[in-house]
Amino acid sequence: MFYLLVTLAVYGVFRISREIIGNRAHLMEEEIRDYKYKRRSLSESFQRRITNHIGTCEECREQFKKIMNE
Ligand SMILES: [Zn+2]
Repeated sequence: MFYLLVTLAVYGVFRISREIIGNRAHLMEEEIRDYKYKRRSLSESFQRRITNHIGTCEECREQFKKIMNE
């Protein structure tokens, strides 16, 4: 029982940190283009990463706007 809890806790921390790291990494131009042209086929977590990152990173927000207006 104890090990099960530890495993669940470790897994939770792993998932959260992976999400935070993913959100912090800058977006690549290619990812923004995928979002623009292939949004329907993208996973929900990928879309969330894009929108979360744009909300917090001015640099990527500028690039995002530029690509969306192309
Ligand atoms: Zn960024």
